[in-house]
Amino acid sequence: MNQLRRSEQLLRRFFNPMNLIIDAHQDLAYNILSFGRDYSRSVHQTRQIEASHPVPGLAYQSLLGWSQYNQGKVALVFGTLFAAPARAEKELHPNLQVYNTPAEANQVYWNQLNFYHQLTQEKPSVFRLITTKADLQAHFRDWENQPADPQPEDYLPVGIVPTMEGAEGIIDFAELPLWWENGLRSIGLAWAGNQFCGGTREPGPLTDLGRELLGEMAQTGFILDLSHMDEPAALECLDTFPGQIIASHSNVASLVKGYSSNRLLSDQVINQLIERDGVIGVVPLNAFLNWEWRADGGREAISLRLLAEQIDHLCQVAGNCDHVGIGSDFDGGYGVEHVPREIDNIADLQKLIPFLQELGYGEDDIAKIYSGNFLRILNAILPE
Ligand SMILES: [Zn+2]
Repeated sequence: MNQLRRSEQLLRRFFNPMNLIIDAHQDLAYNILSFGRDYSRSVHQTRQIEASHPVPGLAYQSLLGWSQYNQGKVALVFGTLFAAPARAEKELHPNLQVYNTPAEANQVYWNQLNFYHQLTQEKPSVFRLITTKADLQAHFRDWENQPADPQPEDYLPVGIVPTMEGAEGIIDFAELPLWWENGLRSIGLAWAGNQFCGGTREPGPLTDLGRELLGEMAQTGFILDLSHMDEPAALECLDTFPGQIIASHSNVASLVKGYSSNRLLSDQVINQLIERDGVIGVVPLNAFLNWEWRADGGREAISLRLLAEQIDHLCQVAGNCDHVGIGSDFDGGYGVEHVPREIDNIADLQKLIPFLQELGYGEDDIAKIYSGNFLRILNAILPE
């Protein structure tokens, strides 16, 4: 290696190179439809507008905006179909995406999937639907050619891969191929507990109906997302589901100080996910890094270092960097008030890089963690 190249490499390391990011979990449709958020605005515009015109039911400041996706090189997100069961909401507001029955959930989810189509057709410079390998490859070619420090004229559309969080909306298994045809690519069975399995705060195993759904999902080719699933159900899925498995937005439970819930991943689920060639999207949410963060000094006391340690743990268990990604869940019921102190908005996910470097991770490792691993999963399941 000549001297010039060596010094270039050192410089790039010193200045923390940018990496493209795949974010495996964002409730875009939920936020837009529930609260009228417009992500073609910058995050700062959104905050300003919401400060002067408070939105009923919205108690946190946004972390997302088109310019910030571009500045942070967030090329693609898994965009959820998500609505909470009405019983989980403290207060109901107009437009809030909720349901009382599976039939209502079905309607809400179809509406959200259709909304992603409408959004990407109406704002093709801001969002782009990604449903095939060809889409994915063309999309990443565009992003790889974007200048390192993009100006507004260089901004690119953010890719959206539709995913379903909580399968209540599936009321007829014969409808699964129709969901697929319309671009849905991943399904998480649970949010809270439901007819298929136990979930967050509502524990329980897989039901017979859940087993039947898994069989149909595998047949169609969906990714199975274990996030929110209760442990016994997740372990049975890992034993029996023949298709691709991920945990889109979940941290390592055993690393979280004071943790007491069934929301994060047990060591056994992690071991088996790695064995099954899964990918785990880690979440930069303070409560998922230190359950007692409020008592321990609040946001100012929580650093991205803790997220880097989550990633390091998963890589140490796996013996490689092939099973970790990012699933920010930004704006998914929380905002800037609830994330580590280094993060003001989604562009700041790049600030994780020096923490990973400090732990010994090199350029190729970080590229896998930021996008390569979820890219592998998408390449394996997307149709031509
Ligand atoms: Zn979630």
